[in-house]
Amino acid sequence: MNLADDLYQELILDHARMPRNKGELNPHSHHARGLNPLCGDEVEVFLDIRDDLVRDVRFKGHGCAISTASASMMTQQIRGMPVHEVKTLLARVNAMVTGRSPADESLGKLVVLAGVSRFPTRVKCASLAWHALAAALSESGETVVAE
Ligand code: ZN
Repeated sequence: MNLADDLYQELILDHARMPRNKGELNPHSHHARGLNPLCGDEVEVFLDIRDDLVRDVRFKGHGCAISTASASMMTQQIRGMPVHEVKTLLARVNAMVTGRSPADESLGKLVVLAGVSRFPTRVKCASLAWHALAAALSESGETVVAE
């Protein structure tokens, strides 16, 4: 067990039990929904973006502990962040979750999501909220389905 493994257990359970920033955000400027049919996870992301800054963010939905925790941690991380930084973060998190890049300590608490890269069936759970975020930012406003 390394530090990331311990944090993984603790943080995932904590956020799954008490999700942060859960609910709808109205009015919002951006919105998208993500579905992961494999696990039955559903995450809807609401953003209030003004002057290129994420002023507020909420999510709603239901799913497994990992999908809920990932969405909850995502909202905490991106609130107050400039949109270009959110896009960089998205790419880094996706690379880490899928195991294309190693656990990145500079991502702060999000580093625990690296834990799922060893469990291929859980990768979609962890990345679902981030895919929904990407769809919301692209202003397609669509439903993305994890494949
Ligand atoms: Zn799941």
